[in-house]
Amino acid sequence: HRELQDLTCRLANTLKKYGIQKGDRVAIYMSVSPLSVAAMLACARIGAVHTVVFAGFSAESLAGRIMDSGCKAVITYNQGVRGGRTIELKATVDEAVKNCPSIQHVFVAQRTDNKVHMGDRDIPLEEEMTKADPTCPPESMDSEDVLFMLYTSGSTGKPKGIVHTQAGYLLYAALTHKYVFDYQQGDVFGCVADIGWITGHSYVVYGPLCNGATSVLFESTPVYPDPGRYWEVVQRLKINQFYGAPTAIRLLLNYGEEWVKKYDRSSLRVLGSVGEPINKEAWQWFYQVVGEGRCTLVDTWWQTETGGICIAPRPSEEKAEIIPAMAMRPFFGIVPVLMDENGEVIEGNDVSGALCIAQPWPGMARTIHGDHQRFIDAYFKAYPGYFFTGDGAYRCHKGYYQITGRMDDVINISGHRLGTAEIEDAMADHPEVPETAVVGYPHKIKGEGAFAFIVLKEQTARVDHIKEELKAIVASRIAKYAVPDHILVVKRLPKTRSGKIMRRLLRKVVTEQSSNMGDVTTLDDPSVVKEILDAYQKYKEKNSS
Ligand code: AMP
Repeated sequence: HRELQDLTCRLANTLKKYGIQKGDRVAIYMSVSPLSVAAMLACARIGAVHTVVFAGFSAESLAGRIMDSGCKAVITYNQGVRGGRTIELKATVDEAVKNCPSIQHVFVAQRTDNKVHMGDRDIPLEEEMTKADPTCPPESMDSEDVLFMLYTSGSTGKPKGIVHTQAGYLLYAALTHKYVFDYQQGDVFGCVADIGWITGHSYVVYGPLCNGATSVLFESTPVYPDPGRYWEVVQRLKINQFYGAPTAIRLLLNYGEEWVKKYDRSSLRVLGSVGEPINKEAWQWFYQVVGEGRCTLVDTWWQTETGGICIAPRPSEEKAEIIPAMAMRPFFGIVPVLMDENGEVIEGNDVSGALCIAQPWPGMARTIHGDHQRFIDAYFKAYPGYFFTGDGAYRCHKGYYQITGRMDDVINISGHRLGTAEIEDAMADHPEVPETAVVGYPHKIKGEGAFAFIVLKEQTARVDHIKEELKAIVASRIAKYAVPDHILVVKRLPKTRSGKIMRRLLRKVVTEQSSNMGDVTTLDDPSVVKEILDAYQKYKEKNSS
């Protein structure tokens, strides 16, 4: 902690020297590392607002976030390393800031020994930090001043800058870290999330550090250099709590148990799952194989907007039952309610509805940067007086909650949230593709994948070529993980008489529930359904051959 404070203060003084002040916004585009944690804390220390952008996002995504938040500076690495690959972080920042007049400085740290181009506004970070004073008094802040913002996807094409404030967020991150994971002094807490997501903010940085914990920084991937990586780290660092994503568990269970059993996992007490629904098979494997049936496994439901865990099996009475693959119990102060289609609270058990939270809690987002109206519209309009999460949930006969998935056009690819509209907006850039509709479909490892239906301007023999171009556009406008797995050409999309695309029908097609299409009477021309089903069938046959 003393070393981290030294690093943080030197970085904070460097930021100050180059004119960063309380209230200024700073983008952090770095892989997970002690320095990236120090970068977040340095901003906090001087009252600047950090916005961490996941280092897998493209230059265009980074630029969009920088412009929306009006960042004055970016902190980055020359390069990143992940899973044996080198990632050109500084080159991506160069590309991004070309179009960002608000950026005055780019602070460049060295993660590798390779030289990268340094221009006029680029500042070698470590060099400056060696010269900087290792003490930097913390700025006094109001409890409701902004601590950070973090962009996340909504149902429109434009990501929203979710704003979290000082005291409430930190309190909530620290309390949930302590009680959900039964953190005890001296424990080594291992959350393998990236700091580019809210999980990394709350359970790699703020929660554990506030509780004085040892927090593990995981820079790699679960399969590098081999599928035993997580468990090798557990053995080497004697991790007590291991917090990861179902997508990684689903990937690892394919490699077999030897990779787990090779390592000593006796230090583990609590296992946690986050970011997406965990299926029973993955839950059982995590519990039985990784945890040897003796660790508490908590499926934690929450989101960028909630700041910290809202529903999880713990805390609870000691030894209270845990039902596989269920988030179950609300955290202290969280009042979940289920709403019906008419906006009425659903009482009783064994019921499903829209998941809302009935009273405010310390960690809740305060606004969307620059667009408070959008904040009201997205979270408080559908059910006045309640916070609407965007998720659906089931309350079982015992009163426990199970999350059933998003109710809006947001999909969850490998635990990364993405608006289908973002993919559609990116693909709209292709001159030969006038119309697209993207829906999620169940994917064995990723949880969900993107399936795109496209309409071509005219018949062409270049179809495969166009599909590749579309994939390249999505990768460069958003990120590689957003690229659709499937692109299917159809003559037209299913639309209502008022011209609205009925994505619900497309979802039925890709989840193969075409026998149960529901009400199609509002379609402009119901014959489109058969047309699309035929195209899908042909596509499937072609793919399987
Ligand atoms: P994000 O804000 O990127 O963390 O994404 C939050 C969304 O991920 C939620 O609205 C849910 O749809 C989903 N999610 C997160 N945790 C869980 C969980 N334990 N079970 C089911 N869905 C989850």
